[in-house]
Amino acid sequence: MTKKRKSGGRSKGGKGSSDHVQCSNCGTIVPKDKAKRVTSRISLVEPSLARELRAAGTYIAAQTTLKLYCVSCAVHFGHVKVRAKSERRRKY
Ligand SMILES: [Zn+2]
Repeated sequence: MTKKRKSGGRSKGGKGSSDHVQCSNCGTIVPKDKAKRVTSRISLVEPSLARELRAAGTYIAAQTTLKLYCVSCAVHFGHVKVRAKSERRRKY
């Protein structure tokens, strides 16, 4: 059968099986190596206040959160895009 991707969209290699995680948005079960990882910084201080504090020389710590998305949610949120056939990586 024809294969769309050599890796099946995963980074598993030849290891057989991998753990599963839940999508942060829809909750579907995705293989850990297929899930799209998105890290973002969340600041607890309002942007306008943060600007003032930074001007006064304050260090504002921000938490880093990791979110794992299934492929369809990652496409929906624009974290990954559908590439045209000509833009896809050459596989050999
Ligand atoms: Zn999802």
